[in-house]
Amino acid sequence: MNRQTVRSTAAKVLRSDDLLQGEKAVAAAILLANPSFGNPHAVRCDWCHESRTLFRDESDGPFKVAEHGWVCEPCNVRARNQEIKL
Ligand SMILES: [Zn+2]
Repeated sequence: MNRQTVRSTAAKVLRSDDLLQGEKAVAAAILLANPSFGNPHAVRCDWCHESRTLFRDESDGPFKVAEHGWVCEPCNVRARNQEIKL
């Protein structure tokens, strides 16, 4: 739940969407209170153009956590990822 809040806010920050009043502060506070989460990452595959906002230990959709970053499994390539700082 907390992670989902941070994830949706991070995705908005990345897209430069309008944020609700205090929304970024709430997400930043959740991260401060849960240092084990780390910052979310924008993960994207250049081949199939799939994208997700993932925490470092999460695999979702075609993306699987690898030693450094993520791999897009169907394409069998390393995905691009960008850390999102709140
Ligand atoms: Zn792909």
